[in-house]
Amino acid sequence: MTDGLHKLLARSAERPCALARSELAALLAVEDGTELQALFDAAYALKVKYCGKRVAIRGLVEAGNVCAKDCLYCGIRRSNGKVTRYRLSADEIVRLAELNAKQGYASLVIQSGEIESEEQTRFVEDVLRRIAPLDLGVTLSLGEQTEEVYRRWKDAGASRYLLRIETSNPDLYTTLHPANHSWERRVECLRALRRCGYQVGTGVMCGLPGQTYDDLAHDIEFYDKMDVDMIGMGPFIPHPDTPLATSCQSLATNHQALILGLKMIAVTRLYLHDVNIAAATALQALAPDGRERGVRAGANVVMPNITDVKYRRSYQLYAGKPCLDENAGLCKRCLERRLASIGETVDYGHRGDSLHYRRRMCASASIPGGGER
Ligand code: SF4
Repeated sequence: MTDGLHKLLARSAERPCALARSELAALLAVEDGTELQALFDAAYALKVKYCGKRVAIRGLVEAGNVCAKDCLYCGIRRSNGKVTRYRLSADEIVRLAELNAKQGYASLVIQSGEIESEEQTRFVEDVLRRIAPLDLGVTLSLGEQTEEVYRRWKDAGASRYLLRIETSNPDLYTTLHPANHSWERRVECLRALRRCGYQVGTGVMCGLPGQTYDDLAHDIEFYDKMDVDMIGMGPFIPHPDTPLATSCQSLATNHQALILGLKMIAVTRLYLHDVNIAAATALQALAPDGRERGVRAGANVVMPNITDVKYRRSYQLYAGKPCLDENAGLCKRCLERRLASIGETVDYGHRGDSLHYRRRMCASASIPGGGER
């Protein structure tokens, strides 16, 4: 390992946000095998310092694949006529939430395509009120909504919200979305979520066509600027039935995409220290042990899919989605085994709130007016 890398890693471990953007980009550009291992080890040491050798779990419910948006990379975009559309009923979601609690998972993620309507708002409110007695930490990932809707869902029982910015570079965002999709509105939604009191999560895709290490370093600075509590990032894996698939097929091998995803996890942990970082299921699409490697690179959250197997093929945002045929029980045992193989345990019975969020709440209780940095 070079002396320069050794010093960067040592400095980043001392305190959060210790590195300049050029230094973040330098860490993201590391390719030598020994240096990569040093990067992952340094990030993992911080993960263990802040979160222990435990992994927080959220059962993932894919509540529906109907979406009003048309993102150019997404398998369930509105214009993809090959998808069989579905929406789970309130009863089905409540049953899955009960299954989630029975598995010992104290947190739940409800995710779906983006629908903005009073009917959808009421539907989600109803579900949240019905699952409230289960006392789960509930994350919603239901896209862009008005602040009033976010507030209504918070009042009905949701505590966290994940809205990925996909890239912090507005020009790059424009190349991935139709003209009527607004990067600025997404940022404003993140601000609205903060005002409503959510634990707020965001994230980006790594390995986008035209994306540079400087862009990715800027993404990590964006997380800090928005003072987010949770990060959910994933490698860019083109879905074959999307406009971006043809132009992007040859950009990276699975191995390269995996390594870039792991580097983003590691450098984000080294920069932010105390946030929750998910080891995305998409990592597992690139290598069977992708999620475990995500944890060994600094992630502390895993989200096993508990949606009924019959719906999983219809919710494919990217190509090669894993665990299409494994029910929730199989996923649970598989996950326990996989995490045990790297010396980690599943943190059953705990919600796994973001430490960053808890610190933020303590700080804002004593210093009024906390916000973006
Ligand atoms: S990325 Fe999200 S908002 Fe865009 S089309 Fe897919 S589900 Fe809809």
